[in-house]
Parts: sequence; structure tokens; C-alpha cells
Amino acid sequence: MSDEPGETTSYWCEWAWVGGPEAAPGVQVDVADGRISRVRTGVSSAPPAARVRFGLTLPGFANGHSHAFHRAVRGLGHQASGSFWTWRDSMYEVADALDPDRLHRLARATFGEMVLAGYTSVGEFHYLHHGHGGVPYADANAMGDALVAAAAEAGIRITLLDVCYLRGGTDRELETSQRRFSDGSVDGWIARASERRTADHLRLGAAVHSVRACSPSEISEVARWAGSHELPLHAHVSEQPAENEQSLAAFGRTPTQVLRDSGALGPHFTAVHATHLTADDIDLLGSSGAAVCLCPTTERDLADGIGPAARLAGAGVSLAVGSDSQAVIDALEEVRAVELDERLASGRRGAFNATDLARTLTADGHAVLGWHDAGRLAEGARADLVTVSFESVRLAGAHTGHLLEVALFGATAADVTEVTIDGVDLVVDGRHQSLDVPRELAESLRESWS
Ligand SMILES: [Zn+2]
Repeated sequence: MSDEPGETTSYWCEWAWVGGPEAAPGVQVDVADGRISRVRTGVSSAPPAARVRFGLTLPGFANGHSHAFHRAVRGLGHQASGSFWTWRDSMYEVADALDPDRLHRLARATFGEMVLAGYTSVGEFHYLHHGHGGVPYADANAMGDALVAAAAEAGIRITLLDVCYLRGGTDRELETSQRRFSDGSVDGWIARASERRTADHLRLGAAVHSVRACSPSEISEVARWAGSHELPLHAHVSEQPAENEQSLAAFGRTPTQVLRDSGALGPHFTAVHATHLTADDIDLLGSSGAAVCLCPTTERDLADGIGPAARLAGAGVSLAVGSDSQAVIDALEEVRAVELDERLASGRRGAFNATDLARTLTADGHAVLGWHDAGRLAEGARADLVTVSFESVRLAGAHTGHLLEVALFGATAADVTEVTIDGVDLVVDGRHQSLDVPRELAESLRESWS
């Protein structure tokens, strides 16, 4: 599917979002060597040999926070009552059965599903590092390498957020099921993470699992190392009230304050979830230039709560979204929930319009993963094109003056029909061109339950 080096391929988009409040008609996007070389608006008909994209074409979507293997528990555990903590037990059971080969197959299928939904980059928050009992594999990065290979085969770029996870709680050692996550010390984590290989579709990132899993001094060491290598740094922050209570009891400070005092906050930092924040936490995130990655479909699934998205945006915090537990892999459903949940919480509509949501899903999402050259239909940007068709029963008859709004608030992953990543046409007419994603999901999920 890839084109010869230096050759220009033209795409003619019936409609495209090139920034601004609404879609533009007749947009020609020229692509060479995986980059956009020119964008022309007002091109009323497709030039000869152009690849035609009917519907609305958007820049690539970014999945800011993912645990690929959680895909295996989608739809399970809804019969019984419970909470995040009971869900976590079933997720740990799946994790226990994974080795590098199984993880590779499960992640490839899951990343394939993401590509079909229009995601062109994924931030994989990776903590399942070692074998049973915490015994390292012969190649200590075998599990991370499995994820990187899976992403390459699915055609998605990956930011591997290598997680430092050393404790079972602020006052607890690791549970048996958590030993696989730990490198024993920050030095052990740095030694392993430093050995990572590089690849064109890969960016490295660092992560602190949470203030439950690393002490304040350990967070300082991780932040220092990430800063010295200019890596994006992510952490789960205040997903649960219990996390705040443990942090206050152990450190006398909220998780955000602990992260600030440990030197973690700043423009390279992304707080994942940020659901239960104080006003001071919001100010700290805003004034530091940090971003927040909301995961609304997971947060509702796990009964986490609704994060203060509008107040964060008002404090100058840039927002991204992530599919996290894979309860849903639908970028459009994920991002519109930022506004729709805000409506439920506030009783008001309109904190975020379609343009705000489109920016969250594209350029701002890519920025938290370190792909600053992706997420725009603009000259020089990576050639990611995601087309939403208006031919389904959901969208037929869409008002052509409001296509961006209709797509953001009415379309689903099933309406994404064409996806190009770095100039490669990976999804054509709703089908992944190199993977049979439904079959791979069926096989890898069956395997993960056996
Ligand atoms: Zn997570």
C-alpha cells in the first residue's frame, strides 16, 4: 500500500476539517514520503488520479491512554455489583495468563480495532514487564517489545509509556499478582527502560503508575530521568477517592501536590483521569503547563466519577482522551463524552464545542504522546487522514453546514471508513488492509481466557 519514495499522492476530500469552526468543501491533500506536502481548499472536483474520500476527512485521532490487554475483560463482570477495585481483580487474572507471545497477539488485534476507529497513535501505559513472580524474561523488555511489534503490524504509531510500579499501596508491599509489574527500584526500572530499541513508529515515554505505586522520592527520580531524556511523563492521578485518601493519610498532600513537590508537573506531564481534584490541584496543573488525559468511557464503566473537564480547560489545561480499559474503542464516543458528561454534571450544555473536541482528539492528543508533528491537516504534518462517511442510517441526510458537529456528536467508530497513517492507506471501505481484525480478536480473546 505504501508509495514510492518522493512520489506525490493526491487525496481529494469531499469535505475536510482544516481547523476553524466547520468543515471545508473540496479539499485536496497532497502527500509525499508520509507527510502532507500541500493542502488546497476550494477544489470543486477530484483531479485525475486523486484518491477520492467521500464524507468528512479529519486529521488522525490520538489514543492518549491505553492498556491493550484490558480488551480481554470487555463486557465481563457486569452481572455483579462492585467497584473499580473488584474490576481490577478480574483484570489481574487476565494479566496473569499473558506471556510475550499472547500479549503480542492480543495487542495486535486490539491495536487493529483502534486503527479501524481512526486512532493513528496510541499511548500504551505499559506495566506488565516481567514473568510470573516478577522473574525477568531472558530479554527483560520482551513484553514491551511485543507491544511495539503489535503496533507495527497493526499500522499504528505507539508511544510506549514505560511504567515504574514499585509498591502495592502507600503503606503496602506488592501483592503476588503485582510482582510482574516491578523492577525492584527506580534504578532497576531505568536500567531496563534504557535498553529499549528504537523504531520509526515508536516514541518512548515514562510513567509513574500512581502515587500508590511509587513514593515521593521515587517519583522525583523518575521525573528527573524522564526530564533529562525529554520524554513525555504520564501518571494515573486521582482516579479514585480512595487514592486521594491514601495520599492524604501517608503524605498529608493530594496526589497532584505530591507530584508537584516531586518535580513531575510541567509541560511534559500528563495526568491521566484527574477525576477527583481540588481547586488547588486544578490550578497546579494549569499553571505548570501540564495536560490531562480523560478516559470517559472507562470512568463511567468503572463508576469512577466525572472529571472537572471544563474547569481544567478554564485553567489552561490541554485535554486529551484515551480508551484506557478498552470498555469501548470508539474515538468519537470517547471525545464527545467530555462534553456530554460535563452536561450531566453541570446541568448546562456547550462547555466544549465540536472544534474543541476535534482538537482534543487530534493535535492536543498527539502532543501528550510526543507526536507534535501529527494531528493536523497542514503542510509538513504527518499524513494521517481519517474519513467519516455520512452514508449510514446514523448520519444519512446530515446538514452540510454542520458536518463537523454531526460527526463529533453523531458518528461512531463504524462510520470511520478510510484511515491513512503516515501516508499508508490502512483502512479502505471500513476494512483493515493487512489484518483480519475480528478474527484476530476472536482468537486472541479465546486464548486469553483459556
Ligand atoms: Zn490506566
